[in-house]
Amino acid sequence: MVVVDLVALVAILVSVRVSPSGSGDLGRFVVLAVGSAVHIEASRHIERLREVVTEGVPYVNLKSMWLFAGALVLPLRLALLLVLTTYIHSWFRLRRVPIYRWAFSTASIVLAASSAAVIMTAVSPHSYPGFPPGPRGLVASVLAGLAYWLVNYALVVGAIILSNPGAPGGQALGRLADQWIVAGGLGLGLAVAVLLVHDPWAVSVLVLTVLGLHRGLLLGQFQNAANTDSKTGLMEATFWHKIATAELARAERLGTQLGLLMIDIDDFKSINDTYGHLNGDRVLKAVSRAIQQQVREYDLVGRFGGEEFVVLLPQIDGAEIAHAAERIRHRIAHLQVDLDEGKLAANKLTCSVGGAVYPGAATTLDQLLLAADTATYEAKDRGRNRVQMAPNTKSKTAPSAQFEPTADR
Ligand code: GH3
Ligand code: MG
Ligand code: MG
Repeated sequence: MVVVDLVALVAILVSVRVSPSGSGDLGRFVVLAVGSAVHIEASRHIERLREVVTEGVPYVNLKSMWLFAGALVLPLRLALLLVLTTYIHSWFRLRRVPIYRWAFSTASIVLAASSAAVIMTAVSPHSYPGFPPGPRGLVASVLAGLAYWLVNYALVVGAIILSNPGAPGGQALGRLADQWIVAGGLGLGLAVAVLLVHDPWAVSVLVLTVLGLHRGLLLGQFQNAANTDSKTGLMEATFWHKIATAELARAERLGTQLGLLMIDIDDFKSINDTYGHLNGDRVLKAVSRAIQQQVREYDLVGRFGGEEFVVLLPQIDGAEIAHAAERIRHRIAHLQVDLDEGKLAANKLTCSVGGAVYPGAATTLDQLLLAADTATYEAKDRGRNRVQMAPNTKSKTAPSAQFEPTADR
């Protein structure tokens, strides 16, 4: 990985020295940078989920449509600057991967874009950056697309194989269908490049088209797969389990900690008995929203059962997870819910929270769930409206933490 990073750095330095730059290039750069930024912002929710499920296999996306277009029509130094700005942007907005993995992905795209530029120059030195006219332009850009794809794919697959020596050989290659997405992204990149040269304003139409397809097709597919719970809008338990398993595999591989919270509403039966089931449903909805507001965007909130919720918090340590649990408990204890007959006052609604931390409390998902569930029961036993963390049986350092409720009940 370090070697790839260094070679990419050399490519960037060389591009700054050799590539010419004309007027009009900056305008093209701005169009591509804006297109890429809008694309990342509009698709980041779903991309975050897609990225988690592809742990251990190449993660493909449509970002290349902007970066490949840049390699075709921008001088190399601007094309590489576009790669950097795009990847820095996604680091801040998707920030799921450790820095060395981010650097490697960025470096592999820098090299992919550089090799596309080398092909374009080799086929037609006079028209680069830009297309030679006629069929030569087609041949040049198809060859450039192949080079872009091959360099990136070979580097990513190579890195996955080297970092997971135990995994089955075919797994690192990913699914064939994913490579069609890559091909689609490169094809769109060519379309963007042609539009940029002949009719830059039309690029905005392409952005809308791609985002429309992305949301229309992918989001629908994902919501179906997620079996979103219709009452609360949260992930349904089976899908939560699937994503949580992938997150745990990632934590194991990266050696990071991960937290699991189980939240059970206190005396929910009496809320149903007092206010009726429909009002009970409103309470469930309000509690779901409150939980989501108290955790980070990429924490996985699921509906585990009737009035039970689970939250998975990746890359977090024991102290932080106990704080998150306490924040949720506190927020729910202060929640005011609109019911048919007025409001359900704050303090009428409380919950008990059990937490467990990987790898301190348990090392498999089922053991973590069990540990958090047991902790929830303990919290109930100790009087409800409190947080109980499972003991760290696997390590000798941190003892089990308890949170006494502050005087809010
Ligand atoms: P504890 O403090 O021990 O958790 O008491 P509890 O009453 O919350 O626990 P219990 O498990 O006895 O009752 C859970 C109740 O949740 C019973 C069930 O009718 C209600 N419930 C489960 N799913 C739904 C739902 O979708 N809507 C409504 N309104 N109620 C539900
Ligand atoms: Mg319960
Ligand atoms: Mg309950």
